[in-house]
Amino acid sequence: MHDSEKLQKMLEIIRDEILPLTENEVSRGNNVFGGAILRTDTLTSVMVGSDNRVENPLFHGEIDTLNRFFKLPVRPDPGELIFLATHDPCPMCAAAIAVAGFKELWVLFGYKDIAETFGLQTDAEIYREVFGVEGARPENAFFTKHSLKKAVATSPDKEALGEILDEIEKRYESLDVKDTSEEHAD
Ligand SMILES: [Zn+2]
Repeated sequence: MHDSEKLQKMLEIIRDEILPLTENEVSRGNNVFGGAILRTDTLTSVMVGSDNRVENPLFHGEIDTLNRFFKLPVRPDPGELIFLATHDPCPMCAAAIAVAGFKELWVLFGYKDIAETFGLQTDAEIYREVFGVEGARPENAFFTKHSLKKAVATSPDKEALGEILDEIEKRYESLDVKDTSEEHAD
């Protein structure tokens, strides 16, 4: 069981810090994925980021967050911090989080949400086609990956937390993401 206050703080960071940035980036043609790096003790953000594919298709939300973080002249040790991703990371981002040295990863939307609710199939396809797996393992030698949605569902405060989660999901649903798939078609 996870401390409700921790879950609430992570939801609030998504709602109040990542989403405003993502809403702005999506209006510029970027994708929905965002990230935040949090201090373990205060659960305040050190950095937030959001997809920046307009500049570079490799700048997924997690990569944008990491790029911003590593530009800080003084920064805490990633091993002492939490990486919060709005969506379960693709293989590139999962590896980048491992390479950067983060040990605690939290994700809001899972791979099923990404494929079904968000209609984004590429991440699952790369995992399947390139690596022959269905996604990043929650327990591995580099990090432990936790599901924020699952933790909310089993929390004693699931009703109050669920209200914040509902609001977040509605805001993601209302995002008008530019479809770039035709740009890759032959
Ligand atoms: Zn990614």
